[in-house]
Amino acid sequence: DLNQLMSNLEGSIRVFCRIRPLILSNIRKNEDPLVVDLDKVVVKSTGIKKEFNFDKVFCQTSTQEDVFVEVEPILRSALDGHNVCIFAYGQTGTGKTFTMEGMDDQPGIVPRALKELFHHASLHSASSITFSISMLEVYMGNLKDLLAPKPTRRVYEPVSRCNLNVQVDAKGVVEIEGLTEVPISDFSKARWWYTKGRRARATSSTNVNDVSSRSHCLTRVTIAHHGDSPDGQVRTSKLWMVDLGGSERLLKTGATGLTLDEGRAINLSLSALGDVIASLRRKRTHVPYRNSKLTQILRDSLGNESRVLMIVHISPAEEDLGETICSMSFAKRAR
Ligand code: ADP
Ligand code: MG
Repeated sequence: DLNQLMSNLEGSIRVFCRIRPLILSNIRKNEDPLVVDLDKVVVKSTGIKKEFNFDKVFCQTSTQEDVFVEVEPILRSALDGHNVCIFAYGQTGTGKTFTMEGMDDQPGIVPRALKELFHHASLHSASSITFSISMLEVYMGNLKDLLAPKPTRRVYEPVSRCNLNVQVDAKGVVEIEGLTEVPISDFSKARWWYTKGRRARATSSTNVNDVSSRSHCLTRVTIAHHGDSPDGQVRTSKLWMVDLGGSERLLKTGATGLTLDEGRAINLSLSALGDVIASLRRKRTHVPYRNSKLTQILRDSLGNESRVLMIVHISPAEEDLGETICSMSFAKRAR
């Protein structure tokens, strides 16, 4: 039951794996290189046999609903006042954006979460819970405000909206200076802003080649609970939903058109994220948040009372096996 699920979440980092359906262009020579179970993926290929365990595995036929059902308990903890981070990790083309954004007829985690939050709030007394949304893109260590009111520059340069500062206050709360935060009063408004943010990202993509695979896209919903604490203070929690940059290694970047610097920036921030999660997992006293912009931004939503969900995306194709093993090994450090 839900309470059982919730207590299982206590202080934990959960790791799911989702396998993208095979596409026609994939070469099929032998048997499938992956054997998939409910909570593990076994790699079986010439000379390799490796087993990777997960909290949950979604196979090629799993639907967006199947995924969201498992995400829901974590959303509840955001409503209960915990900071939450949901990450989509994996090689470019494995379905990270499909999982987070989805399509009009197959919405992903973000639109479903927005709907669910308002549904939950409607069950409570009027305006006791309010929401606001922010969206930003992290590219080569620069932050771009995707909901900025003015049209943003097409090219990344250190102008204000493209290079926001990240501060941590005395209580350890992260503040992104100047980041647009829009109050959202119902689902249709939330969806409107979310679409605007996605477009702001897409616009820059076409102008600087496709930056979407070399940048991280972060959506933050701030949840404010009014009047339920004895001192009358507003309690807030943050729900982060993150579509990470492609995890493919530099070796292959020529194929996806990545430049060396861009590839390095993504690899650095993903390994910084891996290091932070691994330190938290092992309850280390020093957690290396400062090593990347990404981990600085998420600092107050990864540790302590936070709930973290990493969804590792993999390809079912034989030719991607190297990257697949890398992605699952990354996940192994987090568990
Ligand atoms: P990424 O964001 O990791 O680069 P995408 O989400 O863009 O990958 O997915 C690549 C392609 O595969 C897209 O056309 C997407 O619609 C499709 N795709 C990915 N995952 C699924 C899935 N589970 N079911 C159906 N189509 C998928
Ligand atoms: Mg994508």
